[in-house]
Amino acid sequence: MKTAKERITAAFLACLMGTLAAVATGQQTPTLRWYKGNTHTHTINSDGDSTPDEVVRWYRENRYHFLVLTDHNFLTSVEGLNALHGADEKFLVIKGEEVTDSFQSKPLHINGLNVNRLVQPQGGPSVFDVLQRNVNAIREAMGIPHINHPNFGWAVTTKDLHQVRGDRLLEIYNGHPQANNLGGGGTPGMEEVWDALLTGGKLIYGIAVDDAHTFKQPGNSAVSRPGRGWVVVRTDRLSASSILSALERGEFYASTGVELEDYSATNESLTISIKAVPTSKYRIQFFGRGGRLLKEVLSTPAVYAIRGDEGYVRAKVVESNGHYAWTQPKVLDPAIR
Ligand SMILES: [Zn+2]
Ligand SMILES: [Zn+2]
Repeated sequence: MKTAKERITAAFLACLMGTLAAVATGQQTPTLRWYKGNTHTHTINSDGDSTPDEVVRWYRENRYHFLVLTDHNFLTSVEGLNALHGADEKFLVIKGEEVTDSFQSKPLHINGLNVNRLVQPQGGPSVFDVLQRNVNAIREAMGIPHINHPNFGWAVTTKDLHQVRGDRLLEIYNGHPQANNLGGGGTPGMEEVWDALLTGGKLIYGIAVDDAHTFKQPGNSAVSRPGRGWVVVRTDRLSASSILSALERGEFYASTGVELEDYSATNESLTISIKAVPTSKYRIQFFGRGGRLLKEVLSTPAVYAIRGDEGYVRAKVVESNGHYAWTQPKVLDPAIR
């Protein structure tokens, strides 16, 4: 017979061993949360109109969880900003840079998120080369690249983007008033480009960003104001590595004003629930290979049952005042990678 103390000790040890075994075999699923953030913003360290402190304060006060400061060819220090505004699981500033290059007269801008040093524009003999060399330089600086506003200055074609290797993130919405997100005059909009890249076998995730420059003219819609485009990332904690690796796994949705209640994608189905604004109405659209509209649902939650031959399935929520949310593609064709 064991004494009471021995029984408690044995029970404690069994519990401890179980916990250790669960951790060792990865059985413990971390709690996932949604974190709202913007990965493209300017300050007076380049052509923004406000100090890093003012810029960070705007996002903090507007209930974002994270912000990447991305001045043109300048790496703003974030330690002091995090000391002042950062808070565990509430707010984080991540360092970054908009590597600002060009080919002939075409502006070629690539963000480097969380680079460990300033990356100089690399130049190159073609649009593709400039993009690739800068993506490579950002990776060498341990950063996460995203190619910015391809239709700004009508600089970057689908073919250029398709050739680039080592990038997983593409701006499908940029809040700058000259980003030409919707295309025109025979040039495709960013959603068409996104579908063309996926259809062509390139796995790429669509992000929405502010590219905010102007914080001091809140009433002027012709300037590049904050609060227009963002991402909401699902991960276990608010740290630069956790947020950025979740972004590169496509664990997020992009938004210009629609908030999701939940989203899940399995091999059988995609399910989306919207945090609906009572005065708005919604359409939830599911797209597959070639940008083909597979299904449209008019109520939330919306479910799409996967057939298996769609290539990929992604969802878009259209709100009645012109706000959108885009989920990332659920890839079904192994050739998309
Ligand atoms: Zn830019
Ligand atoms: Zn920018």
